[in-house]
Amino acid sequence: MRRKLAHRTVAYAITPFPPQPAERTMRDGDTIARFHCPRCQGTTAQLEVEAAPAKGAGPQPALPNLVECQCGQPHAGRPENAPAWGCGGFWNEFDG
Ligand SMILES: [Zn+2]
Ligand SMILES: [Zn+2]
Repeated sequence: MRRKLAHRTVAYAITPFPPQPAERTMRDGDTIARFHCPRCQGTTAQLEVEAAPAKGAGPQPALPNLVECQCGQPHAGRPENAPAWGCGGFWNEFDG
């Protein structure tokens, strides 16, 4: 059995990662996407809001959906002004 990664042993570092699959659940009509951070194995979640296409607008380019790790766990060397409350890992999630 693989030992679970202790958060304090994972140093804070801004690190990009490839797209990761999300587990989606519905809550009060909203979609919550839950990700497992590929850096620290922590769980982070984000609310997915479906944007209505603007009237008369042409096809919209698919934007990468940036996910930042917000595991909320302490990491070694975490700066005071870190952009997210996580390990610093971030990645793009693409639908489809
Ligand atoms: Zn993380
Ligand atoms: Zn973490």
